[in-house]
Amino acid sequence: MKIAILSRNRKLYSTQSLAKAIEARGHELRIIDYLKCHMNIASHRPSIFLGEEELGGFDAVIPRIGASHTFFGTAVVRQFEMMGVYPVNESVAISRSRDKLRSMQLLSRKGVGLPVTTFAHDPKASQDMIRLCGGAPVVIKLLEGTQGVGVVLAETGKAAESVIEAFRGLNANILVQEFIKEAGGADIRCFVVGDKVVAAMKRQGKEGEFRSNLHRGGSADIIKITPEERSTATRAAKVMGLNVAGVDLLRSNHGPVIMEVNSSPGLEGIEAATGKNVAGTIVEFIEKNARAGRTKTRGKG
Ligand code: ADP
Ligand code: MG
Repeated sequence: MKIAILSRNRKLYSTQSLAKAIEARGHELRIIDYLKCHMNIASHRPSIFLGEEELGGFDAVIPRIGASHTFFGTAVVRQFEMMGVYPVNESVAISRSRDKLRSMQLLSRKGVGLPVTTFAHDPKASQDMIRLCGGAPVVIKLLEGTQGVGVVLAETGKAAESVIEAFRGLNANILVQEFIKEAGGADIRCFVVGDKVVAAMKRQGKEGEFRSNLHRGGSADIIKITPEERSTATRAAKVMGLNVAGVDLLRSNHGPVIMEVNSSPGLEGIEAATGKNVAGTIVEFIEKNARAGRTKTRGKG
């Protein structure tokens, strides 16, 4: 097969790991910096170019779209879809996953376990939101934050109100969430491929930190997850429409709750913590599922 990785940086661990797996399994590989592509949105014959070269003949693309380039990156993925190329994750699913509120709404509609989560436009609603979350402490987060930036723990009602007011004053969209104290600064990353959790790790925030993000100094370890956690993770990926997803869960008193569902989950942490060849599993999934034109939306979304 001819498989393209859409990635800005071929030196990244995740890109390298996927590249090795693609070649090890005997496929032709191309790494494409999607920001360097241009598209011709022509009737009947959509096309993509890299400089003067027209890109074609791919059986599948693996989108690795950075959070800060969702708009252009998903447009490139959509263009591939219109050309009938099989994307491991579809453009609509990637866009969905980038908006925390939209993701939570979709997951709640399907009854997937979530922390109590509230959202408002008017800062006057802040007291009500805090009350709905069961009172302080609460977690306040920017809708489009990543790597733990823009996630704040407010210990008191007064602190929560000031943080909400400050964010709203900057016109930032935020959600206010019940603080899952019993998670103890840890979360579980379930790496889903197809309808299976193929690897899972526990990430623990450093001393005194409630955020477990590895980018914030957290550490990762292999963990055995429960059947309930396994099914929560696979259901969450399915609801989001993602074939490959990093589903983050917290262990709460009321069972596993979803933190977020990531559409370009990193491979370095999970492969190091579990010793598993996750990239290889992704390529196997492509071999089984990639067929020309086999996308649900075909760029319609
Ligand atoms: P980001 O997209 O920036 O990673 P997350 O929503 O995943 O934002 O939050 C970052 C981390 O903060 C989580 O992995 C978790 O460890 C911690 N955290 C976030 N929300 C809560 C919460 N409601 N209760 C307890 N811990 C939380
Ligand atoms: Mg996170």
